[in-house]
Amino acid sequence: MSRPRIVIVGAGFAGYQTARTLSRLSRGKADVTVLNPTDHFLYLPLLPQVAAGILEPRRVTISLTGTLSHVRLVLGEADSIDLEGRTVQYTGPEGEVGTLPYDRLVLAAGSVNKLLPIPGVAEHAHGFRGLPEALYQRDHIIRQIELAATDDDPKTCAARCTFVVVGAGYTGTEVAAQGQLFTDELVRQHPLTKDIRPRWILLDIADRVLPELDERLSRTSDQVLRQRGVEVRMGVSVKEATRTGVLLTDGEFVDTRTVVWCVGVRPDPLAASLGLPMERGRLLVEPSLQVPGHPDVYAAGDAAAVPDLENPGKYHPMTAQHAWRQGKVAGHNVAASLGVGTRRPYRHKDLGFVVDLGGVKAAANPLGVHLSGPLAGAVTRGYHLAAMPGNRIRVAADWVLDAVLPRQAVQLGLVRSWSVPLDTASPEVARVPGGPEKPRAKADGKPQDEGTGGAQQAQQEPAKPGPAEMSGGPARTADQPGAPDAGDKPGPVKITDDGPDVSRRPDGKEGA
Ligand SMILES: Cc1cc2nc3c(=O)[nH]c(=O)nc-3n(C[C@H](O)[C@H](O)[C@H](O)COP(=O)(O)OP(=O)(O)OC[C@H]3O[C@@H](n4cnc5c(N)ncnc54)[C@H](O)[C@@H]3O)c2cc1C
Repeated sequence: MSRPRIVIVGAGFAGYQTARTLSRLSRGKADVTVLNPTDHFLYLPLLPQVAAGILEPRRVTISLTGTLSHVRLVLGEADSIDLEGRTVQYTGPEGEVGTLPYDRLVLAAGSVNKLLPIPGVAEHAHGFRGLPEALYQRDHIIRQIELAATDDDPKTCAARCTFVVVGAGYTGTEVAAQGQLFTDELVRQHPLTKDIRPRWILLDIADRVLPELDERLSRTSDQVLRQRGVEVRMGVSVKEATRTGVLLTDGEFVDTRTVVWCVGVRPDPLAASLGLPMERGRLLVEPSLQVPGHPDVYAAGDAAAVPDLENPGKYHPMTAQHAWRQGKVAGHNVAASLGVGTRRPYRHKDLGFVVDLGGVKAAANPLGVHLSGPLAGAVTRGYHLAAMPGNRIRVAADWVLDAVLPRQAVQLGLVRSWSVPLDTASPEVARVPGGPEKPRAKADGKPQDEGTGGAQQAQQEPAKPGPAEMSGGPARTADQPGAPDAGDKPGPVKITDDGPDVSRRPDGKEGA
């Protein structure tokens, strides 16, 4: 008799942990396959450190094949799921389509950037949900400072040195905190002709930073940000974004070339495409993580609305902590369905949060004990090292190097503006020109108001494709086999602020 086939869609916090648990429990009893667009698990909480030039990008990636034994990796993105036929249709990195039959399915496709119906945002802002976006930000920030250093016009120089972060959840807060330190360092290396200090502005319509976290974490973070010089502007959002700046809801126009969009996330559209009961955009599951009416289908992580058994009527928030632990329970319960162990419900109380504020500063409340300053910094870094399933020595080595050496302020130019559109269902991979069109699961358009953002999430809009999404090809990274190199690109090369040819989209048209 053939062995049961387990397919896990997505290898983030939830999917990786499901696969890891199953590789241990079901060895020899089932075939476990992970379908993921990249060959690694991305440790998202350290992404702001990649954008700030502290960590090299590979440090936050954990090889799937190198760490998951007895698990088969299929590179690709699920396009649709046939619940009746028990198959997953997917598109591989070079446009090839395939089908994976399953006996048990675990849906762990995570989340994508959330948009709000604000004019110009889809065109002029960039999200912060994947490695390509972090690499783009790192280059972009360095470029703005380098260009400002040779700009004689004080107004343009000031605009280049102004960085607007929208959304003061933990992503936006960490990006702004790390960003101010990074640009101060860059200016030391590239002194500006004008007497300008890089200006970071953190906006949120909420009345405090980290609105969804404990108030003491919020106060500590606010204090550190302000002491560092970040302009923390609560109760304010963006009314319109343009190529030269943003119009704020209080009527001020801020000249800037940088808008980082951290207003939160919405579940991957794949979950919505199933046509099953949803809870605010997330797939509704039972405490066992099974989808009601489909006992062979499980969901976990950001894509799943998991009932909070400690707080009846509520659902667990979209955090790494929950996704990781849900992955473990999903693995156990799938194994139980195959006769190994017993099924258990997901039940977990928050163990606290850590917010890395850059330098030696952080805000943390492990097990409810409030910490700030260097002690919180040490706890935060220790927590990340303990939580990462690999690369610990490399990460720690980068931290040591960063403490003793100046940061390397060079652009690599590998990720361009058009290859990381804000409105995308695939933030984990950069777009490349000339790639094949790939069918995508249709979003139901219902956004989600939990996640990495602040209260900006309160204003929501249906997901709709932005310009780059409509014209863009699919998801291939520049260094994947078959990806065209720069010489393949159609159209003339235009020199812009973003470097050669950056304003050319994959369809050859001009655009931001
Ligand atoms: C910058 C940043 C910082 C954060 N910091 C923290 C923090 O400090 N603490 C905290 O608790 N949480 C943090 N979070 C939130 C946390 O990372 C998420 O809640 C967590 O990653 C959710 O895990 P997941 O497995 O559901 O999704 P993910 O970890 O996002 O994984 C989803 C996986 O599915 C893959 N995938 C997507 N679509 C498809 C498809 N169609 N087919 C196949 N595979 C697919 C993706 O490539 C990815 O590998 C942060 C998030 C961000 C963006």
